[in-house]
Amino acid sequence: MTTDTPQPPQIDTANAHPARVYDWLLGGKDNYPVDEAVGEKLPPEARDAARQNRQFMQRAAAWLATQGVDQFLDIGTGIPTEPNLHQIVQRITPTAKIVYTDNDPIVLRHAQALLTSGPEGATDYIQADVRQPAAILERARAVLDFERPIALSLIALMHFVPDEQDAHGIVRDLVATLPTGSYLVMSHASSDLYPELAELVTAEYAKGGIRLGFRTRAEVARFFDDLDLVDPGLVTATEWFRTDPAPVAEGSGIYSAVARVR
Ligand code: SAH
Repeated sequence: MTTDTPQPPQIDTANAHPARVYDWLLGGKDNYPVDEAVGEKLPPEARDAARQNRQFMQRAAAWLATQGVDQFLDIGTGIPTEPNLHQIVQRITPTAKIVYTDNDPIVLRHAQALLTSGPEGATDYIQADVRQPAAILERARAVLDFERPIALSLIALMHFVPDEQDAHGIVRDLVATLPTGSYLVMSHASSDLYPELAELVTAEYAKGGIRLGFRTRAEVARFFDDLDLVDPGLVTATEWFRTDPAPVAEGSGIYSAVARVR
């Protein structure tokens, strides 16, 4: 028996995990009773927010592909849910390359579904934490060409990283590695659009051991300092309108934006 046989990732079923609660909110099956227990306590708006967020990802990815962006670094990618980012992008640009990253072992377990690249393109999966950006960048450089534009997507990720862990500095440092013409794509749960709901959601996640740090519009806007926001700017997930599926006239507590790197 060799000692370097890859071990299956250890799945912690005693504690709720963000990727699995989100999967439950989206109606997925890759979650455990601990995750469902958190999800069930949340107001119905949380399920709306998950769907709206996912649809923003789809619209933003399709729009970027139509702009000619063919390299994507998607950190905090989540449990695969069709269509995944590479499927959307490679429908438009079959040669596109996508690197996915998440820190949850359950995503690693499902990573094969993220790696179903079309024959002309490429996908890769990195098990890593956004708070260790150097490790992500080192591995991403093996697939992506950092001399050409890259779309960095941090979708529904940074509200898991509090200010004490330098959320803004992490994003700034990641963006600093991207050449001109690259993009930052972000969505982030709001603390100020529906404050009571935000407090309720944060409290229920906290009971499940998951710390959330929703942010105000101004705090989210700071992630885009020194970048050029693409129309319609920093708006809610349902207001971001560039491509299909068409936005719905529905309130949303998720801030969303795409911005270009100068
Ligand atoms: N981006 C996907 C999934 C959002 S759920 C989408 O919008 O549809 C948030 C994801 O971020 C989860 O999969 C969770 O495991 C991951 N995540 C949370 N904290 C993280 C961290 N510090 N580093 C990397 N991934 C993280």
